[in-house]
Amino acid sequence: MRASTYPLVDAEEAAGLVLDRTPVLPSERVALGEAAGRVLAQDMRAPSALPAFPSSAVDGFAARSADAGKTLRVVGESAAGRPFTGTLQPGTAARILTGGAVPDGADTVVMVEDVSVDVVTVPSNLQPGTNFHRPGADVRAGELVLRAGTQLGAAELGLAAALGFANVDVYRRPRVALMSTGDELVEVGQEPGPGQIVDSNRWALLAALREAGADVTSLGIAPDQREALRSVVGGALEAADVLVTSGGVSVGTHDLVKPLLESLGTVHVGRVKLKPGKPFTFATLPQGKLAFGLPGFPVSSLVTFEVFVRPALRKLQGFAKLQRPTLPVRLGYDARATADRTEYQRVTLIRQGSELVAQTTGSQSSSRLLSLAGAQALVRIAPGDQGVKAGTVVEAMILSLP
Ligand code: AMP
Ligand code: MG
Repeated sequence: MRASTYPLVDAEEAAGLVLDRTPVLPSERVALGEAAGRVLAQDMRAPSALPAFPSSAVDGFAARSADAGKTLRVVGESAAGRPFTGTLQPGTAARILTGGAVPDGADTVVMVEDVSVDVVTVPSNLQPGTNFHRPGADVRAGELVLRAGTQLGAAELGLAAALGFANVDVYRRPRVALMSTGDELVEVGQEPGPGQIVDSNRWALLAALREAGADVTSLGIAPDQREALRSVVGGALEAADVLVTSGGVSVGTHDLVKPLLESLGTVHVGRVKLKPGKPFTFATLPQGKLAFGLPGFPVSSLVTFEVFVRPALRKLQGFAKLQRPTLPVRLGYDARATADRTEYQRVTLIRQGSELVAQTTGSQSSSRLLSLAGAQALVRIAPGDQGVKAGTVVEAMILSLP
Protein backbone atom coordinates (compact mmCIF):
# COMPACT_ATOMS: atom_id res chain seq x y z
CA MET A 1 0.00 0.00 0.00
CA ARG A 2 1.06 3.58 -0.61
CA ALA A 3 -0.55 6.86 0.39
CA SER A 4 -2.65 8.45 -2.33
CA THR A 5 -1.13 11.52 -3.89
CA TYR A 6 -4.49 12.84 -4.99
CA PRO A 7 -5.92 15.73 -2.99
CA LEU A 8 -9.26 15.10 -1.30
CA VAL A 9 -11.71 17.26 -3.24
CA ASP A 10 -14.90 18.54 -1.67
CA ALA A 11 -17.87 16.52 -3.04
CA GLU A 12 -19.79 19.54 -4.40
CA GLU A 13 -16.64 20.98 -5.91
CA ALA A 14 -15.90 17.66 -7.62
CA ALA A 15 -19.46 17.48 -9.00
CA GLY A 16 -19.07 21.01 -10.41
CA LEU A 17 -15.69 20.13 -11.87
CA VAL A 18 -17.16 17.13 -13.68
CA LEU A 19 -19.99 19.16 -15.18
CA ASP A 20 -17.65 22.00 -16.22
CA ARG A 21 -15.67 19.53 -18.29
CA THR A 22 -18.68 17.70 -19.73
CA PRO A 23 -19.63 18.77 -23.26
CA VAL A 24 -23.07 18.60 -24.88
CA LEU A 25 -23.16 16.01 -27.67
CA PRO A 26 -24.24 16.97 -31.20
CA SER A 27 -27.85 16.59 -32.25
CA GLU A 28 -29.36 14.31 -34.87
CA ARG A 29 -32.71 14.17 -36.66
CA VAL A 30 -34.85 11.15 -35.82
CA ALA A 31 -38.34 9.96 -36.76
CA LEU A 32 -41.03 10.35 -34.10
CA GLY A 33 -41.09 6.60 -33.54
CA GLU A 34 -37.47 6.73 -32.39
CA ALA A 35 -37.77 9.89 -30.34
CA ALA A 36 -39.36 8.70 -27.08
CA GLY A 37 -37.13 9.51 -24.13
CA ARG A 38 -34.81 11.66 -26.22
CA VAL A 39 -34.07 15.30 -25.48
CA LEU A 40 -35.20 18.01 -27.86
CA ALA A 41 -32.28 19.95 -29.33
CA GLN A 42 -34.22 22.94 -30.68
CA ASP A 43 -37.15 24.94 -29.41
CA MET A 44 -40.32 23.71 -31.09
CA ARG A 45 -42.64 26.42 -32.39
CA ALA A 46 -46.09 25.78 -33.80
CA PRO A 47 -46.03 26.41 -37.56
CA SER A 48 -49.82 26.79 -37.44
CA ALA A 49 -52.63 27.01 -34.92
CA LEU A 50 -54.34 24.10 -33.19
CA PRO A 51 -57.10 23.52 -33.90
CA ALA A 52 -56.61 24.87 -37.39
CA PHE A 53 -60.38 25.40 -37.92
CA PRO A 54 -63.37 25.90 -35.59
CA SER A 55 -64.08 22.36 -34.51
CA SER A 56 -67.27 21.16 -32.83
CA ALA A 57 -66.90 19.88 -29.27
CA VAL A 58 -70.28 18.06 -29.38
CA ASP A 59 -72.79 16.35 -31.65
CA GLY A 60 -75.57 18.83 -32.55
CA PHE A 61 -76.37 21.62 -34.96
CA ALA A 62 -74.24 24.47 -36.20
CA ALA A 63 -76.32 27.63 -36.23
CA ARG A 64 -76.25 31.42 -36.13
CA SER A 65 -76.77 32.94 -32.69
CA ALA A 66 -78.86 35.66 -34.34
CA ASP A 67 -81.45 32.90 -34.96
CA ALA A 68 -81.91 32.26 -31.21
CA GLY A 69 -85.39 30.96 -30.43
CA LYS A 70 -86.26 30.26 -34.09
CA THR A 71 -87.07 27.03 -35.86
CA LEU A 72 -84.39 26.33 -38.45
CA ARG A 73 -84.24 24.32 -41.65
CA VAL A 74 -81.47 21.67 -41.69
CA VAL A 75 -79.53 22.16 -44.93
CA GLY A 76 -76.65 19.73 -44.60
CA GLU A 77 -74.07 18.08 -42.39
CA SER A 78 -70.50 18.67 -41.18
CA ALA A 79 -68.84 15.48 -39.96
CA ALA A 80 -65.20 15.06 -38.84
CA GLY A 81 -63.14 15.12 -42.02
CA ARG A 82 -66.21 15.88 -44.22
CA PRO A 83 -67.02 19.56 -43.81
CA PHE A 84 -70.21 21.33 -44.92
CA THR A 85 -69.44 23.33 -48.03
CA GLY A 86 -70.80 26.80 -48.45
CA THR A 87 -71.99 29.41 -46.01
CA LEU A 88 -74.82 28.84 -43.56
CA GLN A 89 -77.68 31.24 -44.39
CA PRO A 90 -80.03 32.87 -41.85
CA GLY A 91 -82.83 30.52 -40.80
CA THR A 92 -80.82 27.38 -41.49
CA ALA A 93 -78.72 24.95 -39.47
CA ALA A 94 -76.26 22.19 -40.34
CA ARG A 95 -76.10 18.90 -38.51
CA ILE A 96 -72.62 18.71 -36.97
CA LEU A 97 -70.66 15.88 -35.36
CA THR A 98 -67.87 16.11 -32.80
CA GLY A 99 -64.71 17.24 -34.59
CA GLY A 100 -66.67 18.57 -37.56
CA ALA A 101 -65.74 22.03 -38.87
CA VAL A 102 -68.21 24.75 -37.90
CA PRO A 103 -69.43 26.07 -41.29
CA ASP A 104 -68.85 29.63 -42.42
CA GLY A 105 -71.79 31.75 -41.38
CA ALA A 106 -72.39 29.75 -38.19
CA ASP A 107 -71.08 31.14 -34.92
CA THR A 108 -72.34 28.56 -32.45
CA VAL A 109 -73.23 24.92 -31.96
CA VAL A 110 -76.36 23.64 -30.19
CA MET A 111 -76.07 20.26 -28.51
CA VAL A 112 -78.33 17.63 -29.98
CA GLU A 113 -79.90 17.25 -26.52
CA ASP A 114 -81.08 20.87 -26.66
CA VAL A 115 -83.16 20.69 -29.85
CA SER A 116 -86.09 18.62 -31.01
CA VAL A 117 -84.75 16.73 -33.96
CA ASP A 118 -87.38 16.89 -36.72
CA VAL A 119 -87.76 20.61 -36.47
CA VAL A 120 -84.60 22.27 -35.22
CA THR A 121 -85.86 24.83 -32.75
CA VAL A 122 -82.86 26.43 -31.13
CA PRO A 123 -83.01 27.73 -27.55
CA SER A 124 -83.89 31.39 -27.10
CA ASN A 125 -80.78 31.92 -24.95
CA LEU A 126 -78.51 30.66 -27.76
CA GLN A 127 -75.12 32.37 -27.35
CA PRO A 128 -72.41 32.83 -29.96
CA GLY A 129 -69.22 30.87 -29.47
CA THR A 130 -70.62 27.86 -27.61
CA ASN A 131 -69.76 24.19 -28.00
CA PHE A 132 -66.88 24.49 -30.41
CA HIS A 133 -63.12 24.89 -30.17
CA ARG A 134 -61.91 28.12 -31.72
CA PRO A 135 -58.93 28.04 -34.07
CA GLY A 136 -55.80 28.52 -32.01
CA ALA A 137 -57.59 27.78 -28.74
CA ASP A 138 -55.11 24.98 -27.98
CA VAL A 139 -51.99 26.31 -29.72
CA ARG A 140 -51.51 29.66 -31.39
CA ALA A 141 -49.58 29.80 -34.66
CA GLY A 142 -45.96 30.64 -33.83
CA GLU A 143 -46.33 29.72 -30.17
CA LEU A 144 -43.28 28.21 -28.43
CA VAL A 145 -44.61 24.80 -27.41
CA LEU A 146 -41.52 22.86 -26.31
CA ARG A 147 -38.16 24.18 -25.24
CA ALA A 148 -34.83 22.65 -26.18
CA GLY A 149 -33.68 20.45 -23.29
CA THR A 150 -37.14 18.92 -22.80
CA GLN A 151 -37.38 15.16 -22.71
CA LEU A 152 -39.87 13.85 -25.25
CA GLY A 153 -42.58 11.75 -23.64
CA ALA A 154 -46.03 10.71 -24.82
CA ALA A 155 -47.67 14.15 -24.68
CA GLU A 156 -44.70 15.93 -26.27
CA LEU A 157 -44.55 13.44 -29.15
CA GLY A 158 -48.30 13.71 -29.67
CA LEU A 159 -47.96 17.47 -29.83
CA ALA A 160 -45.08 17.23 -32.32
CA ALA A 161 -47.19 14.97 -34.55
CA ALA A 162 -50.27 17.22 -34.26
CA LEU A 163 -48.15 20.13 -35.44
CA GLY A 164 -46.93 18.13 -38.41
CA PHE A 165 -43.37 17.29 -37.37
CA ALA A 166 -42.57 13.81 -38.69
CA ASN A 167 -38.98 14.15 -37.44
CA VAL A 168 -37.44 15.97 -34.53
CA ASP A 169 -33.94 17.18 -33.69
CA VAL A 170 -32.70 15.47 -30.54
CA TYR A 171 -29.32 15.17 -28.89
CA ARG A 172 -27.33 12.06 -29.49
CA ARG A 173 -27.40 9.53 -26.68
CA PRO A 174 -24.03 9.18 -24.90
CA ARG A 175 -22.21 5.98 -25.89
CA VAL A 176 -20.79 4.48 -22.75
CA ALA A 177 -18.27 1.66 -22.47
CA LEU A 178 -18.71 -0.15 -19.16
CA MET A 179 -16.08 -2.33 -17.56
CA SER A 180 -15.62 -4.08 -14.24
CA THR A 181 -12.10 -4.59 -12.98
CA GLY A 182 -10.78 -7.09 -10.48
CA ASP A 183 -9.02 -10.45 -10.41
CA GLU A 184 -11.60 -11.65 -7.87
CA LEU A 185 -14.59 -11.24 -10.21
CA VAL A 186 -16.51 -13.98 -11.99
CA GLU A 187 -19.48 -13.68 -14.33
CA VAL A 188 -22.91 -14.02 -12.80
CA GLY A 189 -24.10 -17.60 -13.19
CA GLN A 190 -20.61 -18.97 -12.55
CA GLU A 191 -19.73 -20.54 -9.23
CA PRO A 192 -17.21 -18.30 -7.42
CA GLY A 193 -14.04 -20.19 -6.43
CA PRO A 194 -12.16 -19.51 -3.20
CA GLY A 195 -11.81 -15.75 -2.70
CA GLN A 196 -13.85 -14.93 -5.78
CA ILE A 197 -17.06 -12.91 -5.97
CA VAL A 198 -19.69 -12.37 -8.64
CA ASP A 199 -19.41 -9.17 -10.68
CA SER A 200 -22.57 -7.36 -9.64
CA ASN A 201 -21.50 -3.79 -10.37
CA ARG A 202 -21.74 -4.22 -14.11
CA TRP A 203 -25.41 -5.16 -13.94
CA ALA A 204 -26.22 -2.42 -11.48
CA LEU A 205 -24.38 0.18 -13.55
CA LEU A 206 -25.81 -1.10 -16.82
CA ALA A 207 -29.31 -0.46 -15.46
CA ALA A 208 -28.36 2.92 -14.00
CA LEU A 209 -26.68 4.00 -17.26
CA ARG A 210 -29.63 2.97 -19.39
CA GLU A 211 -32.08 4.68 -17.06
CA ALA A 212 -30.00 7.82 -17.51
CA GLY A 213 -30.33 7.57 -21.31
CA ALA A 214 -26.96 6.05 -22.25
CA ASP A 215 -26.28 3.61 -25.04
CA VAL A 216 -24.09 1.03 -23.27
CA THR A 217 -21.44 -1.35 -24.55
CA SER A 218 -20.32 -3.86 -21.96
CA LEU A 219 -16.60 -4.60 -21.95
CA GLY A 220 -16.97 -7.38 -19.40
CA ILE A 221 -14.44 -8.02 -16.64
CA ALA A 222 -10.85 -6.87 -16.93
CA PRO A 223 -8.17 -8.38 -14.73
CA ASP A 224 -5.89 -6.33 -12.46
CA GLN A 225 -3.14 -6.28 -15.08
CA ARG A 226 -1.81 -3.13 -16.61
CA GLU A 227 -1.57 -4.33 -20.20
CA ALA A 228 -4.85 -6.24 -20.24
CA LEU A 229 -6.68 -3.18 -18.90
CA ARG A 230 -5.06 -0.94 -21.45
CA SER A 231 -5.97 -3.14 -24.38
CA VAL A 232 -9.63 -3.55 -23.32
CA VAL A 233 -10.04 0.19 -22.80
CA GLY A 234 -8.01 1.28 -25.81
CA GLY A 235 -10.16 -0.63 -28.28
CA ALA A 236 -13.43 0.49 -26.70
CA LEU A 237 -12.63 4.18 -26.61
CA GLU A 238 -12.77 4.46 -30.39
CA ALA A 239 -16.55 4.26 -30.37
CA ALA A 240 -17.38 5.54 -26.88
CA ASP A 241 -17.98 9.03 -25.52
CA VAL A 242 -17.63 7.90 -21.94
CA LEU A 243 -15.73 5.16 -20.12
CA VAL A 244 -17.19 3.92 -16.84
CA THR A 245 -15.20 1.44 -14.80
CA SER A 246 -15.72 -0.01 -11.36
CA GLY A 247 -13.01 -1.14 -8.97
CA GLY A 248 -9.29 -0.58 -9.10
CA VAL A 249 -9.27 3.03 -7.91
CA SER A 250 -8.27 2.69 -4.27
CA VAL A 251 -4.66 2.73 -3.13
CA GLY A 252 -3.87 -1.00 -3.09
CA THR A 253 -1.08 -2.15 -5.36
CA HIS A 254 -3.57 -3.84 -7.67
CA ASP A 255 -5.45 -0.63 -8.30
CA LEU A 256 -4.46 0.27 -11.78
CA VAL A 257 -7.29 2.40 -13.10
CA LYS A 258 -5.90 5.77 -11.98
CA PRO A 259 -2.50 5.21 -13.63
CA LEU A 260 -4.29 3.96 -16.75
CA LEU A 261 -6.44 7.09 -16.94
CA GLU A 262 -3.39 9.26 -16.29
CA SER A 263 -1.63 7.66 -19.23
CA LEU A 264 -4.66 8.19 -21.48
CA GLY A 265 -5.67 11.69 -20.48
CA THR A 266 -5.89 14.02 -17.48
CA VAL A 267 -7.14 12.97 -14.05
CA HIS A 268 -9.02 15.91 -12.48
CA VAL A 269 -10.42 14.19 -9.42
CA GLY A 270 -8.73 11.25 -7.71
CA ARG A 271 -10.36 11.32 -4.26
CA VAL A 272 -13.44 13.02 -2.87
CA LYS A 273 -14.68 13.91 0.60
CA LEU A 274 -17.65 11.65 0.09
CA LYS A 275 -18.97 8.62 1.91
CA PRO A 276 -19.43 6.20 0.33
CA GLY A 277 -17.18 6.81 -2.66
CA LYS A 278 -13.90 8.38 -1.51
CA PRO A 279 -11.74 6.87 -4.32
CA PHE A 280 -14.02 8.25 -7.10
CA THR A 281 -11.91 9.24 -10.08
CA PHE A 282 -12.73 11.49 -12.98
CA ALA A 283 -10.59 12.08 -16.05
CA THR A 284 -10.93 13.75 -19.41
CA LEU A 285 -9.55 11.93 -22.44
CA PRO A 286 -8.67 13.24 -25.91
CA GLN A 287 -11.57 14.29 -28.21
CA GLY A 288 -13.77 15.48 -25.36
CA LYS A 289 -14.28 11.99 -23.95
CA LEU A 290 -14.87 11.42 -20.26
CA ALA A 291 -13.77 8.63 -17.94
CA PHE A 292 -15.28 7.78 -14.57
CA GLY A 293 -13.40 5.36 -12.34
CA LEU A 294 -16.02 4.32 -9.81
CA PRO A 295 -15.05 2.56 -6.59
CA GLY A 296 -15.48 -1.21 -6.39
CA PHE A 297 -17.80 -1.46 -3.42
CA PRO A 298 -21.29 -1.84 -4.88
CA VAL A 299 -22.96 0.96 -2.93
CA SER A 300 -20.01 3.28 -3.51
CA SER A 301 -20.19 2.70 -7.26
CA LEU A 302 -23.92 3.47 -7.40
CA VAL A 303 -23.81 6.48 -5.08
CA THR A 304 -20.94 8.04 -7.03
CA PHE A 305 -22.90 7.26 -10.19
CA GLU A 306 -25.83 9.26 -8.79
CA VAL A 307 -23.73 12.18 -7.59
CA PHE A 308 -21.29 12.52 -10.49
CA VAL A 309 -22.10 10.37 -13.52
CA ARG A 310 -25.85 10.76 -13.93
CA PRO A 311 -25.79 14.59 -14.08
CA ALA A 312 -22.92 14.39 -16.60
CA LEU A 313 -24.84 11.94 -18.80
CA ARG A 314 -27.80 14.30 -18.71
CA LYS A 315 -25.62 17.22 -19.70
CA LEU A 316 -24.13 15.21 -22.59
CA GLN A 317 -27.62 14.53 -23.98
CA GLY A 318 -28.79 18.11 -23.57
CA PHE A 319 -31.18 17.88 -20.63
CA ALA A 320 -32.13 21.31 -19.28
CA LYS A 321 -32.41 19.77 -15.83
CA LEU A 322 -29.35 17.84 -14.72
CA GLN A 323 -30.09 16.98 -11.10
CA ARG A 324 -32.61 14.77 -9.38
CA PRO A 325 -35.33 16.73 -7.63
CA THR A 326 -34.78 17.55 -3.97
CA LEU A 327 -37.42 17.92 -1.27
CA PRO A 328 -37.26 18.81 2.41
CA VAL A 329 -37.74 15.70 4.54
CA ARG A 330 -37.88 15.26 8.30
CA LEU A 331 -35.27 12.83 9.64
CA GLY A 332 -36.90 9.91 11.41
CA TYR A 333 -33.59 8.78 12.92
CA ASP A 334 -30.42 10.22 14.44
CA ALA A 335 -27.98 10.53 11.54
CA ARG A 336 -24.37 10.22 12.52
CA ALA A 337 -21.95 12.28 10.46
CA THR A 338 -18.50 11.39 9.18
CA ALA A 339 -15.81 13.77 10.43
CA ASP A 340 -14.22 14.75 7.13
CA ARG A 341 -16.63 13.60 4.41
CA THR A 342 -20.11 14.45 3.17
CA GLU A 343 -22.25 11.39 3.63
CA TYR A 344 -25.12 10.31 1.41
CA GLN A 345 -27.33 8.12 3.56
CA ARG A 346 -29.93 5.90 1.97
CA VAL A 347 -33.46 6.28 3.26
CA THR A 348 -37.05 5.28 2.64
CA LEU A 349 -39.77 7.93 2.80
CA ILE A 350 -43.12 7.80 4.54
CA ARG A 351 -45.87 10.41 4.22
CA GLN A 352 -46.95 11.83 7.55
CA GLY A 353 -49.61 14.46 7.00
CA SER A 354 -48.08 17.02 4.66
CA GLU A 355 -44.54 15.91 5.46
CA LEU A 356 -42.12 13.29 4.23
CA VAL A 357 -40.29 11.43 6.95
CA ALA A 358 -37.01 9.68 6.17
CA GLN A 359 -36.14 6.34 7.76
CA THR A 360 -32.71 4.77 7.40
CA THR A 361 -32.44 1.63 5.28
CA GLY A 362 -30.26 0.09 8.01
CA SER A 363 -26.52 -0.56 7.97
CA GLN A 364 -24.95 1.91 5.56
CA SER A 365 -21.96 -0.30 4.79
CA SER A 366 -20.61 0.38 1.29
CA SER A 367 -20.81 -3.33 0.49
CA ARG A 368 -24.46 -3.65 1.54
CA LEU A 369 -26.60 -3.22 -1.58
CA LEU A 370 -29.68 -3.74 0.60
CA SER A 371 -29.07 -0.21 1.91
CA LEU A 372 -29.81 1.05 -1.60
CA ALA A 373 -32.35 -1.50 -2.85
CA GLY A 374 -35.74 0.11 -2.27
CA ALA A 375 -34.19 3.37 -1.04
CA GLN A 376 -36.33 6.34 -2.07
CA ALA A 377 -33.92 9.14 -1.36
CA LEU A 378 -30.36 10.05 -0.50
CA VAL A 379 -29.98 12.34 2.49
CA ARG A 380 -26.89 14.51 2.51
CA ILE A 381 -25.24 14.70 5.91
CA ALA A 382 -22.58 17.42 6.13
CA PRO A 383 -19.17 16.49 7.55
CA GLY A 384 -18.49 17.10 11.22
CA ASP A 385 -18.84 15.40 14.54
CA GLN A 386 -22.32 16.68 15.32
CA GLY A 387 -24.51 14.52 13.11
CA VAL A 388 -28.15 15.46 12.57
CA LYS A 389 -30.78 14.75 15.20
CA ALA A 390 -34.06 12.99 14.47
CA GLY A 391 -36.77 15.56 13.79
CA THR A 392 -34.50 17.91 11.81
CA VAL A 393 -35.65 18.89 8.33
CA VAL A 394 -33.00 18.21 5.67
CA GLU A 395 -32.90 18.31 1.86
CA ALA A 396 -33.15 14.89 0.25
CA MET A 397 -32.26 13.85 -3.29
CA ILE A 398 -35.42 12.04 -4.38
CA LEU A 399 -35.03 8.74 -6.24
CA SER A 400 -38.71 7.79 -6.12
CA LEU A 401 -41.65 9.06 -4.10
CA PRO A 402 -43.82 6.85 -1.88
P1 AMP B 1 -11.56 -2.15 -5.36
O1 AMP B 1 -12.05 -0.73 -5.49
O2 AMP B 1 -11.16 -2.75 -6.62
O3 AMP B 1 -10.53 -2.25 -4.28
O4 AMP B 1 -12.83 -2.97 -4.86
C1 AMP B 1 -13.31 -2.87 -3.55
C2 AMP B 1 -14.22 -4.03 -3.26
O5 AMP B 1 -15.41 -3.88 -4.03
C3 AMP B 1 -13.69 -5.39 -3.66
O6 AMP B 1 -12.99 -5.97 -2.64
C4 AMP B 1 -14.93 -6.18 -3.94
O7 AMP B 1 -15.42 -6.73 -2.74
C5 AMP B 1 -15.90 -5.15 -4.40
N1 AMP B 1 -16.06 -5.16 -5.83
C6 AMP B 1 -15.18 -4.70 -6.76
N2 AMP B 1 -15.65 -4.83 -7.99
C7 AMP B 1 -16.87 -5.40 -7.87
C8 AMP B 1 -17.87 -5.79 -8.79
N3 AMP B 1 -17.71 -5.59 -10.10
N4 AMP B 1 -19.01 -6.33 -8.32
C9 AMP B 1 -19.17 -6.51 -6.99
N5 AMP B 1 -18.29 -6.13 -6.08
C10 AMP B 1 -17.14 -5.59 -6.49
MG1 MG C 1 -10.12 -4.36 -7.25
